[in-house]
Amino acid sequence: MHAKLVVLGGGPGGYAAAFMAADLGMEVTLVEADPRLGGTCLLRGCIPSKALLHVAKVVSEAREMIDWGIEFSEPKISVDALRARKEKVIATLSGGLKQLASRRKVQVITAKAFFENSTTLRLEPTGEGGAIEKLTFDHCILATGSTPTKIPAFDIGSSRVIDSTGALELVDIPESLLVVGGGYIGLEMGSVYAELGTQVTVVELTDGLLPGADRDLVKPLHQRLNKHFKSIMLSTKVVSLVEKDNAVEVTFQDADGSNERTERFSRVLVSVGRRPTSQGIGLENTKVKIDKRGFVETDDQQRTADPHILAIGDVAGEPMLAHKASHQGKVAAEALHGGPAHFAPHAIPAVVFTDPEIAWAGLTEEQAKRENRQVEVVKYPWAASGRAQALGRTEGMTKFLIDPETDRVLGIGLVGAGAGELVAEGVLAIEMGCTARDIAESIHPHPTLSETLAFGSEAYLGIATEIYRPRSDKNNH
Ligand code: FAD
Repeated sequence: MHAKLVVLGGGPGGYAAAFMAADLGMEVTLVEADPRLGGTCLLRGCIPSKALLHVAKVVSEAREMIDWGIEFSEPKISVDALRARKEKVIATLSGGLKQLASRRKVQVITAKAFFENSTTLRLEPTGEGGAIEKLTFDHCILATGSTPTKIPAFDIGSSRVIDSTGALELVDIPESLLVVGGGYIGLEMGSVYAELGTQVTVVELTDGLLPGADRDLVKPLHQRLNKHFKSIMLSTKVVSLVEKDNAVEVTFQDADGSNERTERFSRVLVSVGRRPTSQGIGLENTKVKIDKRGFVETDDQQRTADPHILAIGDVAGEPMLAHKASHQGKVAAEALHGGPAHFAPHAIPAVVFTDPEIAWAGLTEEQAKRENRQVEVVKYPWAASGRAQALGRTEGMTKFLIDPETDRVLGIGLVGAGAGELVAEGVLAIEMGCTARDIAESIHPHPTLSETLAFGSEAYLGIATEIYRPRSDKNNH
């Protein structure tokens, strides 16, 4: 078999690349080990987690209606029905991808691929029947994604110790759950289980949740999770896990090695990051270069050191996010088609879909400090937003990082209900080189949380009427 273009991996990076290439008139073969298309994001990541987080949010909002004088009885949860509904969402979307591939005449091969050299893949069928075959190609777009990081000491061969894939399977609603790792996946999954009735404990080695996010954005989330989770242990490490009497006995120590103690949990979710799928697929038989962290090195057209191979998505570097993967997929397809595409974003949004949500894009305060950059930070508290008051969710905040010389928006950060939707306006502003005045003078609908972006820009200019801020000379710009 020979293909002009092979895309290896059918996740959001791979299928975007394959579909874009087909739309540009190329003949495309897509190789994916899983019989369903969609990759980590659709099958065991973004989509199932958001489906379950939706359920968690409805449960918690129903409970909080008591503050408005409305009391619902405790929810009765059928875990089988919930799991089936989540599977239906996946099946619908995955079926849709299959149809989109077929309409574009993208040939899909269900097989595990291994590079024999720079232009040959060995294919081991993972679907029904078939024999091992060789597939030669002119070009390959590598989109093999990532898998959960494993800690050998926690690999005790117990079904009670799970990763994010296991947590999303929703085998049951355990009485207690320890989430090892305070990153976004751990907090999202912890939030789901906490709302379904599990006593959730989070343990994080560093001194804060969501390392990398600005601390002022994390604070309102931490305060709310303190109420919903049984406990959050910071600067604490897990020393060992032992399965005992239908539970996992976990030994903890403070980060400095002192204060050893044990506690039992029905299940333990190990969520300590993800590693790129660049090992075990034969890349050593090509000219592709891999960095110290296992990411495939590429240029801004996603070309690797091997002229036949491009790489996109999680396997090609941080941030490991679906929208970055699909964007790179389109760049790679266009580059192969001879187009001028480059992957050079000013802002890649990151969203933590907890309640409240946290979202940011462009420059962060932590990054500005690290790089010693002069920026002005303006914060707009949601307590001053009529919509936030009407929703009873006033803990939110919208902030901008602005270049004081040019008034250009360099970064945006949000915490609050629906922050993940609101950040998109900030992304557009950063990409378009908008100034604070551009946002302030764009009329935002009232009463919406999107107004907090306009009000924040007005606060920077000293012309905000919704809060009291002295007039600023920036108003003369
Ligand atoms: P993947 O989606 O990982 O796809 C790679 C595909 O390649 C897989 O289907 C795999 O089977 C296939 N493959 C690998 N090796 C081979 C081989 N040798 N032969 C054949 N096929 C192979 N991102 C967001 O942006 N937003 C979110 O809300 C979000 N939530 C997440 C929640 C969870 C629980 C997890 C785990 C991840 C989440 N992510 C989220 C991250 C997101 O899923 C990834 O960034 C995204 O899937 C990366 O896309 P990709 O195409 O690079 O790789």
